[in-house]
Amino acid sequence: MAKSYDVVVIGAGPAGYVAAIRCTQLGLRTACVDEWVNKKGEPALGGTCLNVGCIPSKDLLQASENYHRLQHQFGAYGIRAEKVSIDIPTMIAHKDRVVNDLTSGIATLFKANKVTAIHGHGRLLDGKHVEISDPGSNKPKETIQAQSIIIASGSDPVDIGEAPTDGNRIVNSTGALEFLEVPKRLGVIGAGTIGLELGSVWQRLGSEVVFLEALDTFLPAVDQQIAKEAMRQFKRQGLDIQLGTRVVSATVKQKQVSIRYHGKNGEQGLKVNRLIVAVGRRPNTDNLVSPELGLLLDERGFINVNEECRTNLPDVYAIGDVVRGPMLAHKGSEEGIAVAEVIAGGIGHVNYEAVPWVIYTAPEIAWVGRTEQALKEAGEPYKAGAFPFAANGRARAMEEAVGMVKIVAHKDTDRVLGVHIIGPFASELIAEAVLAIEYSASTEDLARTIHAHPTLSEALHEASLAVDKRALHKAN
Ligand code: FAD
Ligand code: NAD
Repeated sequence: MAKSYDVVVIGAGPAGYVAAIRCTQLGLRTACVDEWVNKKGEPALGGTCLNVGCIPSKDLLQASENYHRLQHQFGAYGIRAEKVSIDIPTMIAHKDRVVNDLTSGIATLFKANKVTAIHGHGRLLDGKHVEISDPGSNKPKETIQAQSIIIASGSDPVDIGEAPTDGNRIVNSTGALEFLEVPKRLGVIGAGTIGLELGSVWQRLGSEVVFLEALDTFLPAVDQQIAKEAMRQFKRQGLDIQLGTRVVSATVKQKQVSIRYHGKNGEQGLKVNRLIVAVGRRPNTDNLVSPELGLLLDERGFINVNEECRTNLPDVYAIGDVVRGPMLAHKGSEEGIAVAEVIAGGIGHVNYEAVPWVIYTAPEIAWVGRTEQALKEAGEPYKAGAFPFAANGRARAMEEAVGMVKIVAHKDTDRVLGVHIIGPFASELIAEAVLAIEYSASTEDLARTIHAHPTLSEALHEASLAVDKRALHKAN
């Protein structure tokens, strides 16, 4: 007889593993099926995020930033180091160690929370049964049964025919985490989140980096005042970001990739040593559900869900990158918690207005809520204020006095509608702004909140004052 659970979760990324843990905390007998195999050929929990996404990319960003600071920033303090060098294989090994520690940490958490981990590919046979096969094989080895199913199968990189990846010279984000030497010239197709983060890693380590971006607008989802500042900073660092380009072909010859593309000056050629393709990710629904079940997908291939993450099949939910909304780890985790609560008979809710976004470049870019351009387009009355890190004592002491905090608020009610930051530790500073949005705070609430001195958070305080032209440490 099939083993029976209250809940079976398919996928152990940040959406699935969090859902599974919360389910068992709520007293539901839960199994989590995951097929990930790491580069050593071993099962590894944590999905894209822990294995080849958030964590390894941030490890390399930190390593490359440390190296860059030692070479270019510490001199301002009189700190000089002769013959600074970086051993790339050691850097990659550090990243692998952190990934390994964290992915095995999920296995420990599963044990502690009594989540049954099952390694294999899960396929939904009907609304109550999941067939398991070994990853890469179509031979079923087991069928398990559940009252409720949560699909958290995540996403995969998008490939483009013009630049087919070969896992060596032309790679996707996973390959870009594994270079064992610094490419002299690096091409990146797509100047989005992944492109900018991974391009920055290799640029700080010494690559000349050229971005080929299809759109004419740089970072269209970002507040355009912040995006313009980002472009200015990135150009100063030497990143060559070419907008409005269309890649025609990319071919590998010996140790070079020859790229043909249409740009502002017609068709052009570019030769690089490695090429990263970072043009987005697609929902992963491969061999996930028997076709006769009729699971509804939307026009872009995401599983169709309602606000409670219910699919069109009874007791089948879907969360994370495989459904609409931002492809962010914390968004998937929140959906996982909400669905667990709903299955346990409670109420689950995700406030999509309060999802923070971070691009971990240097300077970092972080935001929550609405941009100035979106408010303008919607014709909503708003007021805005900004404060530069150049006038923040802590940022000056850190030698990182670039960028700004910008707040947009409703003109009449003063409610904070969006906070946009480019600057040092924007990823940490944004948490206060997320809380402000979650609590429907006004800029007056932020202005009355005492911020410790000297801290970077004072820039957020000053920006809230600037909204009403009463900032204290800049001319209004
Ligand atoms: P995934 O993490 O993709 O996990 C899905 C899991 O399900 C995988 O283990 C997969 O093997 C398994 N699976 C799929 N189908 C089946 C099946 N049929 N049976 C069994 N198992 C299956 N987000 C952030 O918020 N912050 C960041 O800093 C960040 N950095 C990133 C950097 C990079 C380079 C990349 C690529 C992504 C980054 N992301 C970041 C995005 C983040 O990784 C994703 O949003 C997140 O991993 C999505 O979580 P998920 O659980 O929905 O899916
Ligand atoms: P993205 O959507 O952020 O950027 C892709 C870029 O490629 C876009 O600017 C797009 O216009 C461009 N593009 C698309 N097709 C192109 C083509 N043929 N030629 C040239 N340019 C082209 O996608 P991504 O950077 O691949 O990241 C995927 C997802 O992963 C994102 O949605 C993001 O949410 C998530 N992610 C998040 C983080 C983070 O939170 N810090 C980091 C990495 C990834």
